[in-house]
Amino acid sequence: MPGFELFGDLERKELQDVLDNGVLMRYGFDGMRNGHWKAKELESELTKTFQTNHVQLVSSGTAAVTVALASAGVGAGDEVIMPTFTFVASFEAIMALGAIPVLVDVDDTLGLNPKAVEAAITSKTKAIMVVQMCGSMADMEALQEISTKHKLLLLEDACQAIGGTYNGKPLGSIADLGCFSFDFVKTITCGEGGAVITNNKDYYLNADHYSDHGHDHVGNDRGAETHPFLGYNFRISELHAAVGLAQVKRLPEFLEIQRRYLNIFKETLSQVAGVTLRTVPEGGEESGAFFNFFLPDLESARKVMQGFKEGGIDVCWNYYDNNWHYIRKWEHLKALKSLFPISKEVKDGLKYLENKTFEMSDHFIGRNISCLIKLSWTEEEVQERAKKMAEIITQKL
Ligand SMILES: *Cc1c(COP(=O)(O)O)cnc(C)c1O
Repeated sequence: MPGFELFGDLERKELQDVLDNGVLMRYGFDGMRNGHWKAKELESELTKTFQTNHVQLVSSGTAAVTVALASAGVGAGDEVIMPTFTFVASFEAIMALGAIPVLVDVDDTLGLNPKAVEAAITSKTKAIMVVQMCGSMADMEALQEISTKHKLLLLEDACQAIGGTYNGKPLGSIADLGCFSFDFVKTITCGEGGAVITNNKDYYLNADHYSDHGHDHVGNDRGAETHPFLGYNFRISELHAAVGLAQVKRLPEFLEIQRRYLNIFKETLSQVAGVTLRTVPEGGEESGAFFNFFLPDLESARKVMQGFKEGGIDVCWNYYDNNWHYIRKWEHLKALKSLFPISKEVKDGLKYLENKTFEMSDHFIGRNISCLIKLSWTEEEVQERAKKMAEIITQKL
């Protein structure tokens, strides 16, 4: 990760096709396109990559989460369980639909803690949103059991774990609906883009219509389409889809590099006293987008981060102190700073955040260091980096 590091001729060629015929829109203009349907082609390619029946491309990963929830009928007043460690997009999407984000603890997988999930279920709970953070996954078997037992929708945000698998199945394809992002820093990038995947035909058709103003996409004449229900514009463009098409064809190459480098980090760093590796659930295979490890406590994690900074080890984060991914720094959510009025139902639903603490999340996120794995590094560079990281940790602990 990220895929842009290896942009090349394939991306240029796919993009040139679109520019040559001039149709930047994914729907219609059949006569002008000279047979180029990049978004459709990418959707078809992704059904194979993610071993799923249906793929709907959208404009971003955030759009994918929003569209997935909407497609399954999640809306006003519904509670959606989500982790304290994720990207802000998770609660943005939930709240965009008038639903209520219910944040719960993560465990040593850095994903949802199944016990905390079960404890958070109320009569208003509609869905569980699993977020597969930093290239790996939550305990999916336990979470599937809970969602089945309580008849809840299971949603899987696999934006950061493209190519990871669980019991041989691609991450994103395990839940009722899966979401992906192809933004600029993800393993497959197309600039801005995303995808919703599902085996449920109704959810798929809902996603197809909802992401394009509710148009039903029946027939060739766009003007004659009807609107079975209200929608919005979450479309992807042909330009973005073209780049995505080139990138997805290269995913096996990207994954091979990421996993090879991940193994080097794991082998070198697991020898270091005080370092433990993140728990990967049995049957899981990481995508290799990140290397994650734990130190004994928050204080040592902060010391090591300082050492990394001084020693020139970049692209590593302790998310406890990071604005983007952990509840501790989401003041705008806790204070409900909104540009426009928010419903009383959502306000009341979020009151719990004023004084709720998340000790288990603090315990694991505080001790964690997550390092991006770059596709553009050479194997020698990775070996040197791993060795240097080991030295710094030993010195700081
Ligand atoms: C990147 C990301 C998103 C949002 O994707 P965008 O395409 O940037 O909107 C959502 N969830 C997670 C976990 C992400 O990492």
